[in-house]
Formats: sequence, structure tokens, C-alpha cells
Amino acid sequence: MASAFTHVFVAAALGKAVSPEKMPLRFWTLGLFCTLLPDLDVFAFQLGIPYRHMLGHRGLFHSLPFALLVGLLVVSLAFRKVPRFSGQWWMLTGYFFAVTASHGVFDAMTSGGYGIAFFSPFDNTRYFLPWRPLVVSPIGVYGFFSRWGWSVLMSEFLWIWVPMLTVLVMVILFRRVLHRQAPIVPRS
Ligand SMILES: [Zn+2]
Repeated sequence: MASAFTHVFVAAALGKAVSPEKMPLRFWTLGLFCTLLPDLDVFAFQLGIPYRHMLGHRGLFHSLPFALLVGLLVVSLAFRKVPRFSGQWWMLTGYFFAVTASHGVFDAMTSGGYGIAFFSPFDNTRYFLPWRPLVVSPIGVYGFFSRWGWSVLMSEFLWIWVPMLTVLVMVILFRRVLHRQAPIVPRS
């Protein structure tokens, strides 16, 4: 995985980018949960499931179809009042899909482990992105108090935090400009 700090940051930054209004606490907590969810498959090691198996680490639970399923499930269970296929429904489903899928994408940019089964269960081929600047993260908190932990954080800061913050600032500025230019329509 990328470090937990980065997953938290991604959930918050994407949430801020897609939702101009104030969102309920469950939106943020579920967003964070979804970015970490794929790594629950590390228990596969304890169950004796091999790394390269469909249910192994970086397999089905890191895939895009799984992320879509998570998006649909979270919205239908936690945001029941949102009318299906409305603008807000698409926004929420897209957000929970994106935060879950972002985990696999960042893993595919790391320098270690096996690749990600992006298309599992339809195709269990493991993929890396052609460009892998992220240093693979140590497991557990203590690993961060080392030179390794430092190089992980630096690589993630440079290749994830800086680009995402830049895009986020642009989205917020663009939204403000649009808001200012919008004709004043009386609310009825
Ligand atoms: Zn992972």
C-alpha cells in the first residue's frame, strides 16, 4: 500500500473536490474506510491463500469491479434518501468508487510486491503502472521512524500530495469563479 497518511489525504482531497456543500460525517468516515478497505486482504496470508491467488493480497479486493461494487453498496446503504440516478447519487457513487479504486492505483505505482489484479474476477492478471515512482510502504507505524519511512513519505508527497493539492486548489478557484459569474436567480 501507499502509506495510511496518503490514503487519508486522498479521501479528504477527493471529497473536497467533488462536494461543494458541507457533507455529513459519514461521508468522510466512509470515504476514509473505503481507501483502506482493499488492504483487508492481507488476512489472506494468514488463511494460507497465496499472494498470486484471486483472493490473495492485491487481488480481487484491489480491483476496479470491486471498487464499483463498494461504491454502489455504500451509497445504497448509507445514503438511502438520495434518489437513485440523480446528480447527487452519481457524485456519491463516483466518489466512493474513486476512493476505493485509488488504493489499487497507488499500489500499482509502488516499487515493491506483486502487481494489482485490476480486472479481477474477470481477469486475474497482475498489473503495475508503467511509471512507479512510489517507494513501497513499510507495514505498521514503527517502520516510519526510519530512513525507509522517510523516503516513502517524500515520494508520496511529491507524486501524490503536490499534484492533488494543485488540482484541488484549481477546482475550488474554478468553482468560485463560476459561482461569481452565475446570474442571480431568485429562489422560489
Ligand atoms: Zn493495498
